[in-house]
Amino acid sequence: MKKNLFRLCLLFVLVVVSVGTAREYFPDLPDYQPLLCDFHMLTLFSDGLVWPTVRVDEAQREGLDAIALSDHIEYQPHKDDLPTHHSRPYEIAVERAKQQNLLLIRGAEITRDTPPGHYNAIFLSDIDPLDTPDFFDCLRAVAGQRAFLFWNHHTWKGVERGQWTETQDKMCAEDLLHGMEVANGDTYYPLAHEWCLRRNLTLIGNSDIHQPSTDYRYAADRHRTLTLVFARERTVESVEEALRAGRTAVWYENQVIGREAFLKPLFARCVTVSQPHYINENGVAFFEVKNNALVDFELKARGQTTPATIAIPAHSTVICKTKMPVEKNEATLSYTVANVLTEPGKGLPVEFSLLSGNTK
Ligand SMILES: [Zn+2]
Repeated sequence: MKKNLFRLCLLFVLVVVSVGTAREYFPDLPDYQPLLCDFHMLTLFSDGLVWPTVRVDEAQREGLDAIALSDHIEYQPHKDDLPTHHSRPYEIAVERAKQQNLLLIRGAEITRDTPPGHYNAIFLSDIDPLDTPDFFDCLRAVAGQRAFLFWNHHTWKGVERGQWTETQDKMCAEDLLHGMEVANGDTYYPLAHEWCLRRNLTLIGNSDIHQPSTDYRYAADRHRTLTLVFARERTVESVEEALRAGRTAVWYENQVIGREAFLKPLFARCVTVSQPHYINENGVAFFEVKNNALVDFELKARGQTTPATIAIPAHSTVICKTKMPVEKNEATLSYTVANVLTEPGKGLPVEFSLLSGNTK
């Protein structure tokens, strides 16, 4: 009996410690928490294959902070079995989300042929008014609720797929479009990345998951595509404020994609470089580089900096060596972080200073 009780307690402890949190994936910034968010997923109420509460449990198990269930408004292949009722996915999931300490956002996917394509509206109060034939009537219903709208997987289907057309110009002119998916599932869209930077749209990354999510033990190269939202607090209101301010990055495969203004402080918290712990008689300095994030960072030297590359696996510390200039007691190491992208194909520039006076 006692043995069984002990086993039960052990199981309970194991369950508790196995739950991940965003903090284990990325450290906090000085002023913001990087909340892990997925704003694009489907349930049985459109073409997904799970019940809404299952999406909550999956997200909680994976250590996410916020999700939006975003069933298609215009496409419901299961409607003979589950009648159209746009508000039900959120209503069914909301109590479970509260229990699981997950932020649940009411969303929907506006699903039109290309052009104009697919768009997610999130922070909605009522989805029904969006179920209207004219696309711009639908968008004005979104705007009337002060909701946030982003363009999904812009290369999806149709002759004009992947193109920026007059429709998007008009949407921007009327302040109806606020962001774009730069990555969706296993696809990265360099053009969307460029458009976000050029047109001041918020960068978004989502799973667009239809199947059950079974792979919840995250690794640097195995996790959902997600949006990192740099929020002041862990609340729905803070997520919304950060999205409107463009404070996001996209965690896609073993890459972080975003604006330099947010990637710089994020990287500075993720990777710390120690002062040399030893300098030998030839002026070779040994120092440690520590990685606090679930990303395998790849650094490539700029200029004369050595070593030429530094690979720092997730949540680990590596020892590096470099030559200290004989005539000076300091060295500046210049690198590009190859898998932290500030623009398509352009890595984040970083610098570290080493002082020789710190060694014993
Ligand atoms: Zn879609």
